[in-house]
Amino acid sequence: MTGKTVLILGGGIGGIVTANAMRDRLTSKHRVILIDKRMDYVFSPSLLWVMVGWRRPERITKDLRRLVRPGVEITTTQVQEIDPDAQMVMTSSGDLANGKPLPKAGVFAEGQGQTVALRIAEEIEGKGRQAEFDGLGFCWIETGGGMAGFASGEFYAEPDPVVPLPHASRMWHWGKILFEKYWLGQGLTRLMARTMLRVGSKILGVSGSL
Ligand SMILES: Cc1cc2nc3c(=O)[nH]c(=O)nc-3n(C[C@H](O)[C@H](O)[C@H](O)COP(=O)(O)OP(=O)(O)OC[C@H]3O[C@@H](n4cnc5c(N)ncnc54)[C@H](O)[C@@H]3O)c2cc1C
Repeated sequence: MTGKTVLILGGGIGGIVTANAMRDRLTSKHRVILIDKRMDYVFSPSLLWVMVGWRRPERITKDLRRLVRPGVEITTTQVQEIDPDAQMVMTSSGDLANGKPLPKAGVFAEGQGQTVALRIAEEIEGKGRQAEFDGLGFCWIETGGGMAGFASGEFYAEPDPVVPLPHASRMWHWGKILFEKYWLGQGLTRLMARTMLRVGSKILGVSGSL
């Protein structure tokens, strides 16, 4: 089988997660290309902290190349048009073949990105199980004064979402700081933040996974 090229449009939360998950699963004969109009990634959940002076913009901004796995190619260009029938993506620097549009959402950009990556990788490699998006998620609600609420649960449950919202506290605010470190940190800092989040999630029974 000849190698495939997968284009991921938008190097935000969803695009980064998808590109990394796909690179992990596809052999090197397949290309994974992440396209964004800018090379600087901004961690949007921390923008609230920029507004109140707790973060400088440069602290929540990171070069996209440092957030993706080796082997993910990055192209900086403006996407202008997507033609799903022709599998073409028109950009300010020319047309690219084999475009795969990605879903959008908040915390779901991450979960959906993982599922999309698995499904495409399974299709390309012809192996593995059919990945399913479970609809589990979580979200912080900033309440000020160094406190935050935290909602986690089944956002797509029928007939209504099942998303308990405990009282705001400092603990949830610290959880969001850990989450920021997990996203923007490197090496040991990232590993420690992820381990603490995973252990904390288990103890507190948080739905959704990292
Ligand atoms: C202040 C704030 C707080 C938030 N807090 C939370 C939170 O606590 N929890 C939560 O789950 N979500 C939160 N969100 C929402 C969350 O950040 C977004 O839903 C999430 O980033 C969406 O991910 P995405 O990958 O779909 O899009 P984005 O992260 O927005 O990425 C889109 C990417 O596409 C690129 N792009 C756009 N158009 C083009 C084009 N034409 N050509 C090339 N590149 C292009 C952009 O440069 C960008 O990098 C928050 C958002 C904000 C603004």
